[in-house]
Amino acid sequence: MGTITVPTEPTIDALTVRAYVRRCGAAVRRHADMLTRLDAALGDGDHGDNLLIGFSAVDEMLDTEEPATIGAILSSVGMALVTSVGGASGPLYGAAFIEAGFAARAMDRLGVDELATLARAAADGLARRGRCRIGDKTIFDALAPAADALAQSAADGSPMSVALRRATVAARGGMQSTRPLVARRGLAMRLGDRSRGHLDPGAVSCFLFIRALAAPTAVDR
Ligand SMILES: [Mg+2]
Repeated sequence: MGTITVPTEPTIDALTVRAYVRRCGAAVRRHADMLTRLDAALGDGDHGDNLLIGFSAVDEMLDTEEPATIGAILSSVGMALVTSVGGASGPLYGAAFIEAGFAARAMDRLGVDELATLARAAADGLARRGRCRIGDKTIFDALAPAADALAQSAADGSPMSVALRRATVAARGGMQSTRPLVARRGLAMRLGDRSRGHLDPGAVSCFLFIRALAAPTAVDR
């Protein structure tokens, strides 16, 4: 007797990924002022503005190019960010999305396993591009714990909803962990010890992007 696989878990398809990317843009528009204020304390005060420019390019790309597969969507998002954003966040998030897109090239649906694979690829790509490690007070401090949480959820067979909630909690913890850190990458390095006491703006925007994953995945299109 053949085995019939009944999907019991919501999985993520290309339409859901498009909706996710749109939610990232919405989160940027909602929080741009806060991100720019955080960057004013540590860097050059343009993180929110840079991401606004980047996600407006992403929206335009989605409207005009209509990439159809998960891999193509993520790669095109990355390219749009790399080519439109002037600050460091464009190349860094660009590398993350491009690497995730490359890892997704043969995937037409994402369960927790696949999502964990993409998150790992994104985190590794960003770390390579930025030459950053945990504790450097960067985007990576929020992204890496989220990738770890997804990997753990894949390993223990957690349902998607639980995996996404854990990833969000891990990203929030990682974001908060940047507050007492002394920056070892980026413009904030110039501040030395005075970079303590401020959240890294990139870790905050990364938390917003991870949290956007956890919005309804099957219905929100
Ligand atoms: Mg900046």
